[in-house]
Amino acid sequence: MTTETFEFQVEARQLLQLMIHSVYSNKDVFLRELVSNASDALDKLRLAALRGDVPDADVSDPRIELEVDKDARTLTVRDNGIGMSYDEVTRLIGTIANSGTAKFLEELREAKDGAGADGLIGQFGVGFYSGFMVADEVTLVTRHAGETEGTRWTSKGEGTYTLERVGEAPQGTAVTLHLKPADAENQLHDYTSAWKIKEIVKRYSDFITWPVRLLPEPGGDGDGGDGAETREAETLNSMKALWARPRDEVSDDEYHELYKHIGHDWRDPLETIRLQAEGTFEYQALLFVPSHAPHDLFTQGYQRGVQLYVKRVFIMDDCEELLPPYLRFVKGVVDAQDLSLNVSREILQQDRHIRMIQRRLTKKVLSTVKGLRTSAPDRYATFWREFGAVLKEGLVTDSENRDAILAACSFPSTHDAGEPTSLQGYVERMKDGQDDIYYMTGESRQAIENSPHMEAFRAKGVEVLLLTDAVDEVWVDAVGEYEGKTLRSVAKGEIDLLGAEEEKSDAEKEKQGEEYAGLLGWMTEHLGDDVKEVRLSSRLTVSPACVVSDAGELTPALENMYRAMGQ
Ligand code: ADP
Ligand code: MG
Repeated sequence: MTTETFEFQVEARQLLQLMIHSVYSNKDVFLRELVSNASDALDKLRLAALRGDVPDADVSDPRIELEVDKDARTLTVRDNGIGMSYDEVTRLIGTIANSGTAKFLEELREAKDGAGADGLIGQFGVGFYSGFMVADEVTLVTRHAGETEGTRWTSKGEGTYTLERVGEAPQGTAVTLHLKPADAENQLHDYTSAWKIKEIVKRYSDFITWPVRLLPEPGGDGDGGDGAETREAETLNSMKALWARPRDEVSDDEYHELYKHIGHDWRDPLETIRLQAEGTFEYQALLFVPSHAPHDLFTQGYQRGVQLYVKRVFIMDDCEELLPPYLRFVKGVVDAQDLSLNVSREILQQDRHIRMIQRRLTKKVLSTVKGLRTSAPDRYATFWREFGAVLKEGLVTDSENRDAILAACSFPSTHDAGEPTSLQGYVERMKDGQDDIYYMTGESRQAIENSPHMEAFRAKGVEVLLLTDAVDEVWVDAVGEYEGKTLRSVAKGEIDLLGAEEEKSDAEKEKQGEEYAGLLGWMTEHLGDDVKEVRLSSRLTVSPACVVSDAGELTPALENMYRAMGQ
């Protein structure tokens, strides 16, 4: 058989140069890329077999094998999938057709002098060529399913590659990396170490639906000799893409196990949310509401977001773009079918599909919480205790979903000391003639209840919401009203409680005014600049006097909050 030498296409050569000279530290992703290609090849074989396109293909025991030769310092990634014909190898491996890769190179060219190249490589993850980050020579032997002849491709990445037809080749593709000697001493980059390989596969490819097996090393290297040859290949991935499996095939325990793994929690989640989107942009989501708020939920560096997978391949942790900040406590996985594996955070931020996913997930989480309220009041109560304060941030920041958030919210009220109420519940209990929803903010329920502002409301039996979270001051202003009823602070401005003022005749009011004119004048004089005005009020029943803000002004609690924030 003859061996022919070919030159790489210009772009491919540029890309290779980058890989070879990369000092990018996260080289581990090369294995993700090769395993992902192998998984794709198995997917393609399955599809082709289903369609009857490859009658002679071997579809038994589809698998991905990893094999290490410590002495030769090689790592082989092998699959028994669809494989490639001779022509396909030249077309697919010698050139760059992938639009994501072309874009990657364009950006690199713009970045000039290679500055920032490391970061770009990390973001893009560039398929087959990424093998050259860790290898100084790559060999690929492949045979297309159903064909008799195979193809061998080799390259040192230096501008040329060789092609050769080979008679004997197993179906599928084997990629052998001749690992760089320079990495031999660096434990972080020791890709002949079983431990290292296991770690990478677990991290990036656990949910690949085909088994990824590590073949035993011949000669019982390192652990006592005998019996090494008879050891079996070890499957490294769990293969449980739970989000892609029908609901009735997966037990709650399995979901909970996944949650514990990705949520770094030892407790079961409070709620599991599944979502399957079909149509032009397909994705699956599996989200979890934890049963406990993490201690750092309100600190700046809180790692939020869910994991992003593309076609079962792990892409990133903490993908913030998939949920709004006020749902930052939600954990889980989103697996998109039609995103590029090379997707970067920058791309995600602008991607309209991602925005669509965010919108849909947000609505789903909110409706789930609302549903819990009636279907599982205990769990709803837990949710509210743990995450209510965070959720209320959404009332300020997400006007599009304001109604849905309000429907999921609860507020302590004077109606029932033990049970917070929905706004709906409050409205249903409103008195005849009551037009507004009354609330008072303060540091604690007790502090609010002892406030003189509450006296008249208590006397008349008018319900007041008792708001004690810092964010309460802000959302009540942002929201303003509910079902046409104004949210009104009992501590602000003049309040005409159930028309109390109107009950008095004008003559009565005038008489009262005259009677107290002396006292009011005296008080105004003595309090001086500390107050704007001293006036008669119907809001008190027991206390002789109280301090009130103007309707548009900050309440004392809000003043405190802004002061605490240093403003
Ligand atoms: P991508 O996977 O994004 O297309 P790659 O550089 O990873 O880009 O691979 C280029 C192409 O080479 C693939 O699209 C596929 O057609 C082919 N290929 C790579 N690895 C394999 C494999 N193990 N089996 C069959 N085809 C493969
Ligand atoms: Mg690939």
